[in-house]
Amino acid sequence: MHDTAHGVTLAELYAARRRLAGRVTRTPLTRSAALSRRFDAEILLKWETRQPTGAFKLRGATNMLSALLERQGREALAAGVVTASTGNHGRAVAHAAAALGIPAVVCLSRLVPEHKAAAIAERGAEVVRVGDSQDEAFAEVERRVAERGMTPIPPFDDPLIVAGQGTIGLELMEDAPDLDRVIVGLSGGGLLGGIGAAVKAIRPAVAVTGVSLSRGAAMAESLAAGRPVAVEEVESLADSLGGGIGLDNRCTFALVRQVMDDHHRVSEAAIAAAMVDLLAHEKCLVEGAAAVGLAALAEHGLEVRGRRVALILSGNAVSLETLDRARALIGR
Ligand SMILES: *Cc1c(COP(=O)(O)O)cnc(C)c1O
Repeated sequence: MHDTAHGVTLAELYAARRRLAGRVTRTPLTRSAALSRRFDAEILLKWETRQPTGAFKLRGATNMLSALLERQGREALAAGVVTASTGNHGRAVAHAAAALGIPAVVCLSRLVPEHKAAAIAERGAEVVRVGDSQDEAFAEVERRVAERGMTPIPPFDDPLIVAGQGTIGLELMEDAPDLDRVIVGLSGGGLLGGIGAAVKAIRPAVAVTGVSLSRGAAMAESLAAGRPVAVEEVESLADSLGGGIGLDNRCTFALVRQVMDDHHRVSEAAIAAAMVDLLAHEKCLVEGAAAVGLAALAEHGLEVRGRRVALILSGNAVSLETLDRARALIGR
């Protein structure tokens, strides 16, 4: 039964929606005239770039922190929450914790660029610089959990995080009840798992399409292997899709396997072209990870003719330098 998908039930999704009300933006779903013409389909864009942190990860972080407050009370969280994400999740935890009055620490390696650390500190979290690798930053999180009683907030592998991201699926079903397909960028699987759990519970006929990088895609490799595996990190325009899924993954691996109907990998050139197209034609500035849905449509000729298809514009953490790199790659 889809309704009991790995701890992400419809009841949990609605509870998440209640917790998010007034704290997270209910984002618009708009029809793209240009893309609809180009693919001879009804192409709908879900604007998660409009979140106060610029990405959907605020949904999961807000849901998990609010649920912990509800269940354990403020006393139990007095030591604060801790995470090690350099990107959208780090900003989301910082923002959500500040909004809920919970102390937050984000552990970053010394190699993380200063502007990323500043974007997290700006939102009120304490940034702790430690070591020269992401692994050392994770080790510091574990130390703080063990020694100071802090609460870890994982970027994807928890039913509360997944249910938060899944509220996107509830909104899609309200705004486009006859949706045929949703195309979602896939990394740790919190976004796809949550949206998949929601849409399948409400309208099982909706196809859930995942899109990963052509190289360094841990979830794709893990699905192929039948168990979580580690992959080497590669640089990509879609840097938010990098990273592993955890060899001890307990939620998203099984959930993605359950709710995803098809999966595609996209090249860097296709991601670059999609980023430039979204900016030029939709006036929409997105990071590479948010452009992979369009990249998959363009690169793999998915059969969407006459169908209603939603693309998730998942985030806008992109620098002008990266945009230049994308343009240089495709020469426009
Ligand atoms: C985290 C992220 C994703 C992927 O989400 P997962 O839950 O890790 O699969 C996609 N797009 C953006 C912008 C992200 O920050």
